[in-house]
Amino acid sequence: MFRTLVLLAAAVALSLGASAQSANVLPDLDGDPVVLVVHGGAGTITRAAMTPETDAAIRASLAEALRAGHAVVMAGGDALDAVDAAITIMEDDPNFNAGRGGVFAADQTVRHDASIMDGATGLAGASSGTMHVRHPIRLARRVMDASPHVLLSGDGAEEFAMQQGLEMVPNTYFHTPSRLDGLLRVQERERSTTGLAVPSPDAWQMHGTVGAVALSAEGTLAAGTSTGGMTNKRWGRIGDAPIIGAGTFADGTVGISATGHGEFFIRLGVARDVAARMAYLGEDVDTAASTVIGTTLTEAGGTGGIIVLDAQGNASMPFNTEGMYRGAITRSGVVTTLIYGDEE
Ligand code: ASP
Repeated sequence: MFRTLVLLAAAVALSLGASAQSANVLPDLDGDPVVLVVHGGAGTITRAAMTPETDAAIRASLAEALRAGHAVVMAGGDALDAVDAAITIMEDDPNFNAGRGGVFAADQTVRHDASIMDGATGLAGASSGTMHVRHPIRLARRVMDASPHVLLSGDGAEEFAMQQGLEMVPNTYFHTPSRLDGLLRVQERERSTTGLAVPSPDAWQMHGTVGAVALSAEGTLAAGTSTGGMTNKRWGRIGDAPIIGAGTFADGTVGISATGHGEFFIRLGVARDVAARMAYLGEDVDTAASTVIGTTLTEAGGTGGIIVLDAQGNASMPFNTEGMYRGAITRSGVVTTLIYGDEE
């Protein structure tokens, strides 16, 4: 009886696990460890919906971010600096929902969330709801390095950013026509919806967040995540990206950055759950990551994905959406960029 139950449980786990995209395993890198992984968001990303120009632009940006972080690692730099180098590049690219390309909140402003964690020290910093900080990942880093706190929000976070000498820009710097179209589309849908005061967000409203996990030459890890959050967000909504343990986590063993429907990632403590499975169950990076996305998140009804890197340079990038912008670079400089669910 017991054996039957175990076998049954294993079969269920396998079939559920299969709902995470199989593209989570990177090509055989011949013992050449991965030193940096990045993502640019998960969602309804299909070949049919993508122009060749956008496909090429996204891959170029992912590759540029990977090479920038790789240069830091190869120069003997800190994993935190490699995360900063990779994420600031994506924050400047309007194709991603972070920094310059952040999505609009309901009041036609762009408000950012970001976080960073140092696996070597266990320290972390985060910011939420900022409107004028050009590189929110840098603010998260300053919160970690120069304040006694972990998470600062709104006006106070901006006051701190100015005190720290970070680059400030008008909110209009982040306003892009495509994001405004997106907002107007959601608000039109909302007006035509009867019954519910606030319809559940569509998957595409939470899409395009950026993140990075780096492994330094010394073997230490850092993870960071940066986003404009959810299109049409209101009431000071905060997603998972600035929540340590939900959207970002790093310890001595593994680093994680997430993207997807933030409310699920917060409730499930997704990033921390991956690290906990590795620590408590002894799972390898791919088993832990694929189980959390393919089983835990999927069973809960959430959508999204994660990038995960362990201290030996093993990476995993599972997601349960059609696609996830993602990439990795090895110590010897081999770059892989992937977009769709069926890419090897
Ligand atoms: N996770 C982000 C949020 O919920 C959105 C995203 O990943 O694109 O704010």
